[in-house]
Amino acid sequence: MTVVTRFAPSPTGYLHIGGARTALYNWLYARHHGGVFRLRIEDTDRARSSEDAVRKIIDGLAWFGLDWDEEIVSQFERRERHAEVARRLLAEGKAYHCWLQPAELEALREKAKAEGKPWAYYTSYWRDRDPAEAPKGLDPVIRLRAPRDGETTVQDKVQGTVTVQNDQLDDMVLLRADGTPVYMLSVVVDDIDMGITQIIRGDDHLTNTFRQVQLYNAIGATPPDFAHIPLIHGPDGAKLSKRHGALGIEAYRDMGYLPAALRNYLLRLGWGHGDEEVIPTEKAIEWFDLDGVGRSPSRLDFAKLENLNGIYMRETADAELLERITPNLETALERSLDDADRAILLLAMTGLKQRAKTLVELADSALFYLRSGPLPMNEAALKILTGDARALLGRLLAALSGLNDWTEAALEAEVNRIAESEGLKLGKVAQPLRAALTGSNVSPGIFEVAAILGRDEALRRIREAAGAS
Ligand code: GLU
Repeated sequence: MTVVTRFAPSPTGYLHIGGARTALYNWLYARHHGGVFRLRIEDTDRARSSEDAVRKIIDGLAWFGLDWDEEIVSQFERRERHAEVARRLLAEGKAYHCWLQPAELEALREKAKAEGKPWAYYTSYWRDRDPAEAPKGLDPVIRLRAPRDGETTVQDKVQGTVTVQNDQLDDMVLLRADGTPVYMLSVVVDDIDMGITQIIRGDDHLTNTFRQVQLYNAIGATPPDFAHIPLIHGPDGAKLSKRHGALGIEAYRDMGYLPAALRNYLLRLGWGHGDEEVIPTEKAIEWFDLDGVGRSPSRLDFAKLENLNGIYMRETADAELLERITPNLETALERSLDDADRAILLLAMTGLKQRAKTLVELADSALFYLRSGPLPMNEAALKILTGDARALLGRLLAALSGLNDWTEAALEAEVNRIAESEGLKLGKVAQPLRAALTGSNVSPGIFEVAAILGRDEALRRIREAAGAS
């Protein structure tokens, strides 16, 4: 049987980081089994759904690197089909009309509580009553005629065997009095019609599963396999909420994480394969299974994510990194990059990417290469550029101006020679040189920087820092 999984987000704002992980697990499961991964937008809550939110989910998934198969399904557009299933269950006697009104329901709920009876006892008030007794002029809801005795069991691939006594579940509403289907019915009918074989979702949906299984049984369909994965918690261990910030996947993009690194991080956040930490997506597809999913909630750990991101950045092609940081660079410089900028950055990228943990850091650390006017200096660089240091830079300027071979090796030899003749350690010369060329106290190797900047620009910067313009 072909494996069919799905991601079924509600479009209420953005692609949630927990949702992204759910999508990833479903995608990996399908890809591992050579199956099908489908996308369904659960847009039945019209007040909270918007086109913009749907777009954000689609863009978020695309950025994250997950592709889906077949058409995207809109749950809302299938509402007639959902209603039809409810009416069929009614016709088959597996569901019934119920005329209980909200106020009555409330009173009955209180009564059940006072009598220590399960709530289900009274919700099924119309279950066996003659519809001829129905109050006039009121539209009924359709309720599922759920089993009263016995229990409903879910063999969850992550949570194990979970059971509920059927008398704890009331006869759920399938179709509201205005004829609109309830969410739970829509989910089950869609999953059946889409041929879903495996549902992997957050464990906040576990309690819904019992009712959904009852519904599958009433419809006469075999329930899919379920796997409910523990939710992601914030770094403080509390359930992820607005308070933690960074809820949407675009926040991670904006913080400068690579999609491949975020995939690896979210994969490991809740799933493991021995001690492996760096698991590129091809390996993840090969190894992914539900046995590796942990049973306790996982905590976001930004240090770990950063670390992984650094590893992925060093493995990423220079041209790709350049493309990814171009928008940041153009914003900071307030101009577009030209071919000369790009050529310089491609030469510089190997050195730059060794030090940066995010694309934001990478872009920041690359900016000095592209400055043509006065070079902005950080505080540490200004501290280094004392009067003595400026005088030393003046002497460096004179010596380097005479250097014919402007290569990393020749520059290194020449600066070493100068240091020796000054009776200084190389570091004492390199420090002001670094400040002059980069405006900072940290940078890639200083001879590499000087060589990449080119003779004219490097000498211009040294001259500027020496104050001998
Ligand atoms: N739409 C639900 C959500 O975004 C998911 C429902 C499901 O996976 O069954 O949480």
